[in-house]
Amino acid sequence: MKKKTRFRTKSKDLSYRIKRISLALLLCLTGILTAGCTRERETTPITKSGFYFDTVIQITLYDDRQEALIDDCFAMAAEYEHLLSRTVADSDISRINQSQGAPITVSDDTISVLEAGLSYCELSGGAFDITLGAVIDLWDIKNNPGVLPAQEDLAMALDSVGYEAVTIDGNEVTLTNPEAKVDLGAISKGWIADRMKEYLNEQGVTEGILNLGGNVLVLGPKSDGSAYRIGLQKPFDQDGSLLLSVDIADGTVVTSGNYQRYFELDGTIYHHIFDPDTGYPYQNGLLSVTIVCPKSVDGDGLSTTCFALGLTEGLALIERLPDTEAVFITEDFEVVTSSGMGDTIPYEILE
Ligand code: ADP
Ligand code: MG
Repeated sequence: MKKKTRFRTKSKDLSYRIKRISLALLLCLTGILTAGCTRERETTPITKSGFYFDTVIQITLYDDRQEALIDDCFAMAAEYEHLLSRTVADSDISRINQSQGAPITVSDDTISVLEAGLSYCELSGGAFDITLGAVIDLWDIKNNPGVLPAQEDLAMALDSVGYEAVTIDGNEVTLTNPEAKVDLGAISKGWIADRMKEYLNEQGVTEGILNLGGNVLVLGPKSDGSAYRIGLQKPFDQDGSLLLSVDIADGTVVTSGNYQRYFELDGTIYHHIFDPDTGYPYQNGLLSVTIVCPKSVDGDGLSTTCFALGLTEGLALIERLPDTEAVFITEDFEVVTSSGMGDTIPYEILE
């Protein structure tokens, strides 16, 4: 039986601690990520940012001669957005969603993301569901000024939810519920991050960091043997301060949190991860779940899955999976880690 590490920390202490590292942060990458800060290099590192599928993508490579490869990655992001986005009119996913139940032929890539998504629908027992599109549209959390959907609208949207409606035969996708609306937002960024890493590795680039809106992926172990330090954001902190850091030599660190997209009404946070049973955002006492594992598609699938399952069930799932660790942050800023955090994956509450 694995050991759990559990500790509690006060947020006011954290803000003091975080001030002391702020200078170091300024010298590193912005956003949730700080990595490779201490390393001295002969070549100048290069960081470029782009905006695709409503997400900031930031890529850092340690050699500025590799800039063209970053642009190739951005081109890949544009290409995948064109296949996978629900809001691009002729994407594979839009064509599936408009199919009215007719079989639609899609690309191998789309099949691969759909299959990954479906595997997490099954693993989560339906708490993760790739057919929440109508519910997601109804809430429109990003633009919602603070209005709850009408019950009858929610009931209608819920009728369209149920991942069992997605059937795949070769490259043909059929929705057995013609109203179902596929949304791959919970897994596509991780899947795309893995493709970018594959591409860069093929080009001989094995050091660097990709950050796709909170899906952080490192390109491989550093040649000097040091780990990359990944910072996890302090939930709801206006200044983007960091709560803790995780050291990884390879693999991915992916976070799902209710503070990423939300509105607040009467003291309740209405955020962007929905319960397929009720159509409401999950309210289970969690602020975020971070997964550390080899592949970003799994990190993305599992971070959303564990957020949906809640602390007890989510942690139990992580303990069953090989090479997979997690950090849960609860509403009262309790940080709960899986048993391999610390031994296998070093981490630190920032002081
Ligand atoms: P983010 O996209 O902010 O990194 P996640 O990976 O957790 O966060 O994905 C959240 C997105 O997944 C939502 O914006 C929505 O598109 C979709 N989604 C919402 N609820 C669920 C759910 N229960 N299962 C699967 N996908 C969901
Ligand atoms: Mg996810």
